Parts: sequence; structure tokens; C-alpha cells
Amino acid sequence: MDSCLFCKIIKGEIPSSKVYEDEYVYAFNDINPVAPVHILIIPKEHICGAGEVTEENSGNIAKVFEAIAKIAKRLDLKDGYRIVNNCGEKAGQSVFHMHFHLIAGCEMGWPPC
Ligand code: 5GP
Ligand code: ZN
Repeated sequence: MDSCLFCKIIKGEIPSSKVYEDEYVYAFNDINPVAPVHILIIPKEHICGAGEVTEENSGNIAKVFEAIAKIAKRLDLKDGYRIVNNCGEKAGQSVFHMHFHLIAGCEMGWPPC
């Protein structure tokens, strides 16, 4: 997707602070962190959002979660972390390339609203 911000980040056309990369997944620090640790983990394949996950592309999401486990181990996030996916504008999605926020390092409330 030529016009997609996160596709441009994957291609290196827009700089990012890379945390992790493999064949299927790219992870980088959020430009506007809401917590001491705030990493975005994205599939390299352009999937607009959770509503566009199919039998054909869901393997990419499994790879995202494999990457999350590796990142959490590498960063020693023993005290826990939260994975957030905002799906749709009303839920707060502002970039329509599916991504997961990995948030850690602060007290987190529940429920969110
Ligand atoms: P959403 O609101 O769609 O769930 O999350 C999008 C996230 O992308 C936001 O937390 C926002 O700060 C982050 N973001 C937007 N543009 C950029 C960028 O150019 N670089 C980085 N590293 N993060 C970005
Ligand atoms: Zn994209």
C-alpha cells in the first residue's frame, strides 16, 4: 500500500526506532509514547485492521504474537504488559495498517472505559 504510513516505515522510507524485525514482523517505538515502554508491533503484510483478518492472512498475526513474546523476554517485562489493538476510528484506530501496542512500565487500570 503506497500511501500507508506503516508500510513506508517497514520499507525504511520513514525513519523509525526499530525494536525487532523478522521476515513477517516489524516492531518500533511509538513516536508518542503513553507509557515508559510503548512499542508498535505490525505485520509486514498490509492488513487494514482486525476486521480484515482472514484464513489466508492470519498466519501473520500469529507471527506478531511470537514476536511479542520474544520482545517481552528481551526487555525482561516480568511485571507484565498490555497488548492493545484498536479496531476502527471509534475505538481509537488512527493508522489503518493493523498494529498492536505493547505497553509496560506503569500502573494500568481496567476496564478502559
Ligand atoms: P492507533 O491510534 O491507530 O491505535 O495507533 C497509532 C499509533 O501510531 C499512535 O500511538 C501514534 O503515536 C503512532 N504513530 C503515528 N505516526 C507515527 C510515526 O510516524 N512513527 C511512529 N513511531 N509512531 C507513529
Ligand atoms: Zn500498510
